Amino acid sequence: MTKQILIALLISIGFLNAQDSKYALIIHGGAGNGLVPENYTEAQTAAFHAGLNRALQRGDSALSAGADAVEVVSLVIQVLENDSLFNAGKGAVLTYEGKASLDASIMDGKSGEAGAVAGISCIKNPITAALSVLKHSPHVLLSGEGADQFAQANGSVCVDPSYFLIPSKLRTIQKIRKQREALDSAKDHKMGTVGCVVRDREGNIAAGTSTGGLMAKRYGRIGDSPIIGAGTYANNNSAGISCTGHGEYFIRNVIAFQLANRVALLEESGQESADYMIHDVLSGQKAFGGLIGIDKDGEFFYSFNTTGMLRGFKREGEAAQSFIFSLEIEEDN
Ligand code: ASP
Repeated sequence: MTKQILIALLISIGFLNAQDSKYALIIHGGAGNGLVPENYTEAQTAAFHAGLNRALQRGDSALSAGADAVEVVSLVIQVLENDSLFNAGKGAVLTYEGKASLDASIMDGKSGEAGAVAGISCIKNPITAALSVLKHSPHVLLSGEGADQFAQANGSVCVDPSYFLIPSKLRTIQKIRKQREALDSAKDHKMGTVGCVVRDREGNIAAGTSTGGLMAKRYGRIGDSPIIGAGTYANNNSAGISCTGHGEYFIRNVIAFQLANRVALLEESGQESADYMIHDVLSGQKAFGGLIGIDKDGEFFYSFNTTGMLRGFKREGEAAQSFIFSLEIEEDN
């Protein structure tokens, strides 16, 4: 019996409801306080929507062809990493020294397995490196040159590091160096980290995140994105989550894991837990950011305390939706 026939049978005898067997995916392209309509032309906002929709379409076609949640998270994030609009892969912000230093992670909510890389510099699609760690390594987090080598040995494409040196990013770094500005808070930095959470037709949840980190970061600084439980977490019995924002606060507060645990133990919905983590915990510490997710009931959720967060979602058989600004601002436009 094929999986689809089995699922149809379970629906017909009332064991599953139709929503349970529908796949769903949600993505983000970073949150920030600079995300207000007056900072962007119509063409720029159209480009953001187009970038988000390309990623959603990739996920939709893979899921309809039967791909599993973990595989789809990787495929969707690769689309965002190849798009220089986002702070991941090709469009990653640069370190103080003017290099790309990339972080990514992925987690399988069915098995609890996870893989992550931090501070890698030649892998074109860092999420594929994280996936290799999940699949082929007894470890969870690999860093630096060793992680580049491991990923390459397991099939990830290694590019010349100049691939990441986009002129506008180099100019920003030169300006920062000239002004001798120290990397400060999340106030000014451009957030554009990408993330994806998927629930496949079998109800398995996976989550992943990929980033260049903070602009002009120094001293090997690593944020929350490759830290399982901080920037990424997935568990079929609670939720899958991907975060974006001022990573130090997401690490200190173990945001993604705490959210999932609230869903599991307090019987809150994903949305209630997300709003608590962002608006009570993060805002309470004057920290900024956002997150996306799907809970065990298949419901999407997202929350952010910045003026905007690039985000989009798609459920099987329904139209894709994408947003940039807070809903109040979107409605005024
Ligand atoms: N969370 C990322 C970091 O701190 C940055 C971001 O999401 O914009 O490295």
